[in-house]
Amino acid sequence: MKPETLAIHSGNLYKSATGDVTPPISLSTTFLRDEQGGYPGGHMYSRVSNPNRTALEKVLSELEHGEDACTFSSGNAAGMSIFQALKPGSHIIAPDDMYWGFKKQLQSIFEYTLEFDFIDLTKTEEIEAFLKPNTVMIWAESPSNPLLKITDIPAIAAITRKHNLIFACDSTFASPCLQNPIQLGADIVMHSSTKYIGGHSDVLGGALITSKRNEYWEKIRNIQQIGGAVPSPFDCYLLLRSIKTLSYRMQGHCHNGMALALFLEKHPKIETVYYPGLNTHPLHKIAAAQMTGFGGMLSILVKGGVTEAKKVVNSVKIFAQATSLGGVESLIEHRASVEGPDTKTPQNLIRISAGLEHIDDLISDLEQALN
Ligand SMILES: *Cc1c(COP(=O)(O)O)cnc(C)c1O
Repeated sequence: MKPETLAIHSGNLYKSATGDVTPPISLSTTFLRDEQGGYPGGHMYSRVSNPNRTALEKVLSELEHGEDACTFSSGNAAGMSIFQALKPGSHIIAPDDMYWGFKKQLQSIFEYTLEFDFIDLTKTEEIEAFLKPNTVMIWAESPSNPLLKITDIPAIAAITRKHNLIFACDSTFASPCLQNPIQLGADIVMHSSTKYIGGHSDVLGGALITSKRNEYWEKIRNIQQIGGAVPSPFDCYLLLRSIKTLSYRMQGHCHNGMALALFLEKHPKIETVYYPGLNTHPLHKIAAAQMTGFGGMLSILVKGGVTEAKKVVNSVKIFAQATSLGGVESLIEHRASVEGPDTKTPQNLIRISAGLEHIDDLISDLEQALN
């Protein structure tokens, strides 16, 4: 089945006695045993598994062409279990512009147990020089936050295969509809489902999808079930509901993202536009080869520095000035002030998440704010 069809049908695992077309929210924390002590419904206790979560994991794993998926209570919890499943002393190579929450995890939670180097992963020919005898993983993020850098996923996969490393890829900005890292050679795909997968800025969640159920994956499943950072049945229900429209929402985000990028690129008050769909993006060709659309995320540098940038985010009327991304409503933020004093993000950078409002309204809002 094609993704649009999978998204709608593959999570309908529930056999209803009352003929429900849509699965109910299964709130029970515990499940009945039979006389032999088994679990005829397939579930024992809802931290371990729950019907809504099982359905969500099935859809996500099929959309990403994986063998299995684990969902978590947040994207950060999903990413953290990837690091927790590694042996102490392991060395990880991660991008210099890695999602700041994961960089913080490595530096503050795993500082005594893991080694890591943050490098420019877009320079694929230089990566092998950073490998050490204890390197076990390359972590990529594409497109990246907030500079929309593109990592050549097949090129990284060639390196990880040659050196027998795990290749994990944060594909949050692309969603499972625009990019499938496992098909491009990754071992594990990570999503913050808080973003496009949820799509309505009302549920926090994270997901990992694996290309194969191996020993490393079993460790991650164990961390999910025993660590316990699991999503609630209601969270899973909301995400399943959102996924049904994901393909169509992504088409709208891509359309509006591209139109905003083209408008802003010509605007005299804008210094630079970072959007992988533009021909002027230095890695546009790689993006076009590995993505089916360029998404709704873009960043701009405003002429006049931090004062001008803050003026713009304070002058919009339709865009909400807030962090996060991927919802139906357009968001705008002065990124450096979100990331704090030690950020490398340029002070005149504004990050935009193009929502699903009419593009004419979004353009006129930015036009008035820039003027
Ligand atoms: C938001 C985000 C995360 C973290 O997800 P949470 O759901 O906020 O915990 C990780 N990676 C990227 C690229 C993100 O945008």
